[in-house]
Amino acid sequence: MPENVNRQFRLKSRPNGYPEESDFDLTREPIPRPRHGEILVKTLWLSMDPYMRGRMSEARSYTAPVPIGGIMQGGVVGRVMESKDDRFSPGEIVNASLGWQEYGVVPAGAARKVDPGIAPISTALGVLGMPGMTAYFGLLRVGRPEPGDTVVVSAASGAVGAVVGQVARIMGCRAVGIAGSDEKIGYITGELGFDAGINYKTEDVDAAIGEACPDGVNVYFDNVGGAITDAVINHLAYRARVAICGQISQYNLPNPEMAPRNLRAFLTNQASLEGFLVNRFADDHERGRQRMALWIKEGRIKYREDVVEGLENAPKALIGMMHGANFGKLLVRVSEE
Ligand code: NAP
Repeated sequence: MPENVNRQFRLKSRPNGYPEESDFDLTREPIPRPRHGEILVKTLWLSMDPYMRGRMSEARSYTAPVPIGGIMQGGVVGRVMESKDDRFSPGEIVNASLGWQEYGVVPAGAARKVDPGIAPISTALGVLGMPGMTAYFGLLRVGRPEPGDTVVVSAASGAVGAVVGQVARIMGCRAVGIAGSDEKIGYITGELGFDAGINYKTEDVDAAIGEACPDGVNVYFDNVGGAITDAVINHLAYRARVAICGQISQYNLPNPEMAPRNLRAFLTNQASLEGFLVNRFADDHERGRQRMALWIKEGRIKYREDVVEGLENAPKALIGMMHGANFGKLLVRVSEE
């Protein structure tokens, strides 16, 4: 057995605005032991996701916040170290919601086996995990793209956005991505095959959308909200669908903006707007995952990971993500595979 120390990050204080490293506390405890029906998991990869900012806040949301002193929530891919359940054996790789810690005990029923033969195990937190399923089901079930449609996605080089654009292309649509640097735009239009890209930090987004989408926007997959979304709404096509996936531009504002204001665009175009959470499609995730795995194998879906080394750097990584520092799916390598 390893040295009997489990390092964890706990929430120390609730941020007002952007989180700071002082909002997190690095604590040490003995490694827990599983009881009947439980497994002990050693974290190999910890996922960094924008929803974690929401869990740090007491603002009303779809789920309860992390209490002060509680372990930061998060999905991990890890190795089973000890099992008190017939369904798992030591050495197996699992995806579970362990939180920001090196070891954790979870009920066996709450862990999902990861097959290392399908793709690198880290993808169970990205393209084959929660963000990939968000992109897949959000686009197909909420955006409902038709061949020939123009699909616009914001935060387009990220874990969710990059998959949205590529799936849109597979569905026979034009994909237009909005992101925050020329390097990110070069990646989505070059390597990922998006038809056009807009750098919202250097371009007039309203004018650029007009140019990139001359027939209007049929599907807008919104990851950011705020001024970018206002600009896209000005260009909705007849019967457009707007899928509200995320509002990251608002997560760190002490007083979030009350956009969008241009609801007339929905009236005149008879367009629809629908928010969704990935869990709504949980019963179908396995099927989505299989299809995505096939597309990866065929080279039709590519992915990029942004790896930060060491649990101790998790707070810095999450804070960086809120400023667009990540380029691709953000992961913390907690322990060597
Ligand atoms: P990500 O795109 O890999 O990383 C977040 C990106 O957001 C940053 O890299 C940055 O890219 C962009 N960003 C940060 N601050 C911004 C701002 N003020 N304005 C515009 N863009 C900003 O993250 P992800 O995991 O794929 O998540 C993307 C969105 O999906 C998030 O809003 C998240 O909350 C949401 N989400 C929703 C669900 C659901 O079930 N509905 C599930 C997963 C994720 P740039 O450099 O391009 O600005």
